[in-house]
Amino acid sequence: MKPNATNAYKIAILAGDAIGPEIMAQAVRVLGLLSKHRDVAFELLEAPFGANAYFTHGKAFPDAAKTACDAADAILKGPVGLSHAESQKIPVAEQAERGAILPLRARYNTFANFRPIYLSKDMAHFSPLKREIIQDGIDILLIRELVGGLYFGEKERGINADGKRYVKEVLEYNEDQVRQVLVVGFEQARLRKGVLHNIHKSNVLMSSVFWNEILDEVHLDFPDIKVIHLLVDAAATALCLNPGQFDVMVMENMFGDILSDQGGGILGSLGLMPSACVGPEKAYYEPSHGSAPDIAGKNIANPYSMIGCVAMMLDMSFGMKAESDAVWAAMKSVFEAGYSTADLSSADSSPKIVSTTEFGDLVMTELERLLALG
Ligand code: NAD
Repeated sequence: MKPNATNAYKIAILAGDAIGPEIMAQAVRVLGLLSKHRDVAFELLEAPFGANAYFTHGKAFPDAAKTACDAADAILKGPVGLSHAESQKIPVAEQAERGAILPLRARYNTFANFRPIYLSKDMAHFSPLKREIIQDGIDILLIRELVGGLYFGEKERGINADGKRYVKEVLEYNEDQVRQVLVVGFEQARLRKGVLHNIHKSNVLMSSVFWNEILDEVHLDFPDIKVIHLLVDAAATALCLNPGQFDVMVMENMFGDILSDQGGGILGSLGLMPSACVGPEKAYYEPSHGSAPDIAGKNIANPYSMIGCVAMMLDMSFGMKAESDAVWAAMKSVFEAGYSTADLSSADSSPKIVSTTEFGDLVMTELERLLALG
């Protein structure tokens, strides 16, 4: 979306389940501060979405949420889902991913998922990797195809000719779907270091052979970009042993789902993983992680991922790059001052542990100072 001439934006707020409302509350504070210090207005359209929406509204993606999202310039989504036991109380088709997230992605064709795996030098101690491995930090942009492949293919269950239960799920891509996300990957590589790691499994999967054929075609339009091919299994190892070799990585849906969580692992916490899900007309922003039912209601979740989603939205949907940079800088300064939420504590970093709301307070204080500077 282009910046809006009236500086007035509608944002659908889907707080989600478990820790979702706790971290969303901190993210929304950023918008309040921006309205106070800048000539911009945000209208927040709050709507039920996810597992609890199923219990209260009978649908994981109720009509009220569809109306809010349709009307919005951008969508801010918290994580959804409940514990395995609680999820079993919901019909399979309405469980949070199938009933809410996948339909949301399909509705707005959010085909390109930007997942930054980022740890500045000053935050390097949060990583479980040895210092000699991560050196000056980690700075990877993982681009995941988000609306195709196995997650969206036809599904079938039944009894086969031998009387055995079977399941079949189809991994399907057409060339346009592959091309559009590869173009995003090449464009991002051009904006960064000119190197694109293409992650695939062409030694086994026909879908990867097909993916690589399209990649060769797209590459003709980006002759300045160096492409490095890597099998997904090798990429998983390389992310642990030498993450510094990666800058922009592009891959299909399921590979991206799994490798990006590994990205959270090498950062030290999934709580450091915001993401942007971008379609032709609209984008939505969500943490890469789930709803963390194990820590819900304790005010200990890390809101960095959700506040980072606001930073990404400001930059990518509203053209507010300076304000986005200020949000990142505010969070960085809180870590630099030695504070962190409990997920990032480790024996050698011994940070001052703060709660979700205290982390939010520290970020808002610093952000307000930065915004007041002009
Ligand atoms: P999870 O990502 O919720 O949690 C994995 C681990 O990371 C847990 O130990 C959790 O406490 C921790 N963690 C995650 N985010 C954190 C944060 N912000 N601060 C501190 N710690 C954090 O994965 P899970 O437990 O496998 O899934 C829980 C639920 O979330 C399930 O219902 C699952 O289906 C759903 N889910 C939703 C999304 C989404 O909304 N996009 C993505 C993944 C999983």
